[in-house]
This record gives sequence, structure tokens and C-alpha cells, in this order.
Amino acid sequence: MPETGIVNYAKVCETMRQQIQRGGGKVILSYQVKRINAAASEVAITDSKNRTIHCGRMINCAGLQSDRILRMAGGRPAVKIVPFRGEYYDLVPEREHLCRHLIYPVPDPSFPFLGVHFTRMIDGGVECGPNAVLALSRHGYDWRTFHASDLFETLRYGGFLKLARKYWRTGAGEIHRSLRKAAFVSALQKLIPTIRGSDLRPGRAGVRAQAVTPEGELVDDFLIETTDRAIHVLNAPSPAATASLAIGGKIADRFETLQTN
Ligand SMILES: Cc1cc2nc3c(=O)[nH]c(=O)nc-3n(C[C@H](O)[C@H](O)[C@H](O)COP(=O)(O)OP(=O)(O)OC[C@H]3O[C@@H](n4cnc5c(N)ncnc54)[C@H](O)[C@@H]3O)c2cc1C
Repeated sequence: MPETGIVNYAKVCETMRQQIQRGGGKVILSYQVKRINAAASEVAITDSKNRTIHCGRMINCAGLQSDRILRMAGGRPAVKIVPFRGEYYDLVPEREHLCRHLIYPVPDPSFPFLGVHFTRMIDGGVECGPNAVLALSRHGYDWRTFHASDLFETLRYGGFLKLARKYWRTGAGEIHRSLRKAAFVSALQKLIPTIRGSDLRPGRAGVRAQAVTPEGELVDDFLIETTDRAIHVLNAPSPAATASLAIGGKIADRFETLQTN
């Protein structure tokens, strides 16, 4: 796709941080929210080290934890976040010439996040993927990372069970591609037929925070809910990183009108 491109997103975030600080804002890192008290007069947000921030309104954009944060704030999420890991391979340097730009398949409208593609990275290197497999923890970046209560929460969710019943064949195909490199390679060969298993080495993985409805549907659009004094971003699928400034603008408009009394 000649008209598309990529950025170094860590640098984008760093620039945003600098601009927030230049505008008089504060960026606080390593603050794991554990408790929220949305009272009549303010919101009190307490972290794992028992520090508390008091504010008039809040925006929850906690990705994989966003439904839990909404619950902490006194709301009842209409969806549950189900974590789907996307795994990549990297092209070995001597085969990077196979991909000079970004190569995408035509998306399947029922599963827009499925379909491996090739991404020539901004600092060099070519990523191939991702697939989509159920992560065994909300932050399960590989098969070894397992969190019993996260997994139990997913497996006992009616929406997930309905989804699994409907699409078990698709899910099994994704697991097969995760566990067998040859199957992953054959998916990549639909885009670059000359690619071989020896051209690839294991790369990084990311976990999608996918909102699933009680009816077993994957929410494919942005889903933003409001509770007292708070806005909650419950589903922000790709390309939400690319579109983050536009989405942020919309949320800021809504924030202005959020009731504080
Ligand atoms: C494999 C993969 C490939 C993707 N490719 C693209 C792409 O090419 N283009 C694109 O636009 N998008 C892409 N996306 C999607 C993009 O990453 C998301 O749309 C975007 O990150 C959503 O932003 P967010 O701010 O809502 O959540 P996130 O980016 O997930 O941020 C949530 C933040 O909340 C923090 N948090 C969570 N819980 C707590 C807590 N209790 N206390 C404090 N902080 C907390 C987390 O640490 C994190 O920093 C991809 C996603 C994946 C997984």
C-alpha cells in the first residue's frame, strides 16, 4: 500500500508527554490504580502503593483493564475485555529485501483484526504478523504467561462462550498458526509466495484489549461509556493508535460537558 506509512510510536508518546508538560500538565508513571471512589464532590483514585489523587473528573483509557476500572468507578460494563495476543515473526536481515513497504491482505469484515501482514519498520527490520490467539492472562505476551483468575473470568463469561461456539474453527486455525511455524509461513506466503520458514525468526507480541458483548459479538468500533464524573474508553481497536489525536479530541469535547455536580 504505497499511500500508507508508519511511525515510531514510542517517540510519538514521548513528544506528547513533553507537550503535556509544556502546557502545565503532569504525567505520572508507575501508578497502578487499585481503587476509585467516585463521590458526590470528587473522584479519589488510589494506587497499589496507597497513594491517592483527588480530582473532579477522570478519563479511563486503561486498555486491557478498562472494564475493571469502570467497575471500580461504580459502573457496570456492558462488555467484557477478552485479551487476544498477536504474535509476530521478523524477517532475517538478508531477506528483508522481500518487503520494501507495507503489505496488507484485504480485510475480512467479520474479523477485521485477522490476517497477517508485513510491516517495514521505521528503524529497519520487517515484522510479519500478527495472528490472534486467546491470551491466558490479560497481559499474556506468550503461552507461558498464565493468570488463573484472568483465564477463569474469560472462560466463564457467557459472551466468550458464545463467541467460541460460533468461531471455534477460526480460533483453532489461529492456535495452529501460533504453535506450528509452517502454518504461519503458509499464511504469509499468500502475500509473498517465495517466503520460507528459514527467512523468519520469532519476533514480538502484543495483546489486544477486545471488548466482547454478552451476545458473543466482537465490538469492532470504538466504545466509550460515561459514569458519574468519568468517561471510560472500553474498546479502542486498531487503528486507535493512529487515530489517537482525533479520538482524544472527541473525548475532550465530551469531558467538557461531563457533569461535576
Ligand atoms: C498486535 C497489535 C497490533 C496493533 N497494530 C496497530 C496499528 O498498526 N495501528 C494502530 O493504530 N493500532 C494498532 N493496534 C491497536 C492499538 O495498540 C490500540 O488501539 C491502542 O493502543 C489503544 O489505546 P488505549 O490508550 O485505549 O489503550 P492502551 O494503549 O492499551 O493503553 C492502556 C494503558 O493503561 C494502563 N493501565 C492499565 N491498567 C491500569 C491501572 N490499573 N492503573 C494504571 N494504568 C493502567 C496500561 O499500562 C497502558 O499504558 C495494535 C494492537 C495490537 C495488540
